[in-house]
Amino acid sequence: MDPILDGLNPAQRQAVTSPNPILQVLAPPGSGKTKTLTARVAYLLSHHGYSPQDVICCTFTIKASREMRERLSKLVGERVQSRLILGTFHSICRRYLCKYGYLIGLKKGFGIADSDDSRGILRRIIKKLNSSIEIRAAQGRISRHKAHGLTPDELAERVKADELELVDIYRQYESALAASNLLDYDDLLVRCVQLLREHPDCVSNVQTVLVDEFQDTNIIQYDLMNLFAAKNRRITIVGDPDQSIYGFRSAEIQNLKRMQKRYSNTTIVLLESNYRSSASILSSAQEVIEQDTTRPAKKLQPTHSHGTMPVLRKLPTANAEAHWMVLEIKRCVAMMGGVLGMSDFAVLLRSASLSTRIETAFGRAGIPYKMVGGRKFFDRTEVKTLINYLRVVSHTGHTDALLAIINVPPRRIGEETIRQLTTGAEKAKITLWEFIKDVIQGRRSTEKKLQKAAELGLCALLKLVEASRQKLQECEDPSAPRVLLEYITESLSFQDYLIKTYPLDEDSRWANVRELMGQANETAVSSGDPGQEEELPEIEGIEQEQVHVGEETLSRFLANVALATEATTQDEGEKVTEKVTISTIHAAKGLEWPVVFIPAVYNGSIPHSRAEVVDEERRLLYVAMTRAQALLYLSLPLRQPRLGEGDDSSTTLTPFLPPKLVKTRFRPLGPQLLEKVVYSIADILRRPRPAAEELYKELHSLPSTLDDQWTTEGEEKDKGTTKAWNASLEPHDSEQPNPKR
Ligand code: ATP
Ligand code: MG
Repeated sequence: MDPILDGLNPAQRQAVTSPNPILQVLAPPGSGKTKTLTARVAYLLSHHGYSPQDVICCTFTIKASREMRERLSKLVGERVQSRLILGTFHSICRRYLCKYGYLIGLKKGFGIADSDDSRGILRRIIKKLNSSIEIRAAQGRISRHKAHGLTPDELAERVKADELELVDIYRQYESALAASNLLDYDDLLVRCVQLLREHPDCVSNVQTVLVDEFQDTNIIQYDLMNLFAAKNRRITIVGDPDQSIYGFRSAEIQNLKRMQKRYSNTTIVLLESNYRSSASILSSAQEVIEQDTTRPAKKLQPTHSHGTMPVLRKLPTANAEAHWMVLEIKRCVAMMGGVLGMSDFAVLLRSASLSTRIETAFGRAGIPYKMVGGRKFFDRTEVKTLINYLRVVSHTGHTDALLAIINVPPRRIGEETIRQLTTGAEKAKITLWEFIKDVIQGRRSTEKKLQKAAELGLCALLKLVEASRQKLQECEDPSAPRVLLEYITESLSFQDYLIKTYPLDEDSRWANVRELMGQANETAVSSGDPGQEEELPEIEGIEQEQVHVGEETLSRFLANVALATEATTQDEGEKVTEKVTISTIHAAKGLEWPVVFIPAVYNGSIPHSRAEVVDEERRLLYVAMTRAQALLYLSLPLRQPRLGEGDDSSTTLTPFLPPKLVKTRFRPLGPQLLEKVVYSIADILRRPRPAAEELYKELHSLPSTLDDQWTTEGEEKDKGTTKAWNASLEPHDSEQPNPKR
């Protein structure tokens, strides 16, 4: 048996080996789409003789590319895998633009504006125009227009008179980006489309294109896919319309139909067995999605036993809900004889803002966790500061980064100086950096003469950045990001600065700095995209831009930081495995965990009060539920503190849950039942069954009831209400675990 086909079912094998050039694999969650796509890449390389550098494979998140590279390493070897053009659409586009952007007039060494930068630019424009448009709204609308390929001029022709204000903002935003030689996320895609339309030869080597999570591609990504594949017209996509959850970002479910129309020779393969979840989790999830009567019915067979029913738990408050999760996680780990460890648990959230209480509760209870999909790590002040230094060194046009570090650590550069400098730069139509340099070198002057102290401060900053740029030039190898970080922290006496400024937690802040250095080092070893990645192949007749290895590694490191959007994980570098994952549902796409918690399943949270498309909210819940392999917990607080208002408000259960689930009652687990439950979990996870005496170990160290927990946690507010609420709670096996066997 061919090892690539080993362990695949007949339908999966059919997809992997299909000789048809245009292939769509459409299938529900957990049916092995990603596994099949990965095997097809390996199969095309080893059986069709494609060279890895002629294969483009697009994943939706950086984490997914990393996992795919790992799987491929095993199938085709490290060396072959590293030559594939594999990554997110954004990262692949960035690579093409670095090499060939000069063909469409991009300046060398462009920087990437992340969401924060974009907002910073928009804030300044909106203030200048005295407009009442909200910054985030403007950002969203501009992004949508870009995703549809509309330039400000084209937009101006279409919109009504009262929308011309946005056109104006859009236009100024584009000029601001251009002036600083920055591309925003949308530009990476839009400019790459332009490049490939005008210079299709750049991808003339490409033999085949493969796309995972196709249901969430937008129009531009769809265009890109076709442009990548223009020469040989060989495309494989895998997807599931029921899991389309990026409509708010202009993803187009219609792309599936569009593709079938465009390529009349499309072959469709359906996969119908689910290998991920217990039969009871699967059927509950099915009942959720089947409420959408407009979708075509689909077959989906479980391959696992029934297992434990999903749990729906109501708690008095959001804090109580967080504590209950703590207890339940501890209880599972203590009870299950080593079958489950901390890293087997995930808490999936509709909105990242729900994480605060949970993080606090986990922190207090000593439950190790990592936050995925938030911007947690790179948002820590000290990390952000250093990243901003690197961004200015890499690209002095990063005005927002420059403003963020201009007086950090303090250099006696005050608000007034900054105002004078920014207006001066604006008037002179040059970047802030160029203006500061001119002022210090006496070529230009500010409205009023700068104070001596401020001038000295600017001088010091200028010197440091120039010296770092010089160092970067000299560093002809991939260690550049780390070398620069060391140089900058040393020159700034950054550790002393942290000690002085944050005497209470300078330790953990310095640890974050060290962690950042570790991540910079990883970029050097494994290059950024992620995993090992080599240069794009040479194409005859087209010159590639020559790159300086140090500059390229730095810019790739920064691009990875910038591209780590909601859909990606950021604490990857931490390398500690035994941690509970807390993630947004969006960022959990394509992944799986033995135990999944979905808190806050109430109206207003899911469906979200601001959601435009209710069906998309239901699909979100479906995606979240189908991440679970063996145990699934849904929960909601009965009262929810209203933000900004003193009063609690009561919650109502989301309408998406099937009646069966809402009515389920739970009995305390006796020893025999426990054994059954644990063995079924072990079987679903294909892990060894523990000996019976291993079960219930250490359980006595846990508080025996939830009630105890609340009072010992000093939840003053909850105390009085506990009894009343307890009456309305459904009995649940977590309340009276039986430590005596
Ligand atoms: P999603 O829609 O959530 O992205 P998917 O269809 O991509 O799911 P995979 O992640 O590829 O599904 O597979 C889900 C799980 O099932 C994985 O653990 C995978 O290893 C396992 N699996 C897939 N196919 C088989 C098979 N034929 N035999 C055993 N396990 C399988
Ligand atoms: Mg998948």
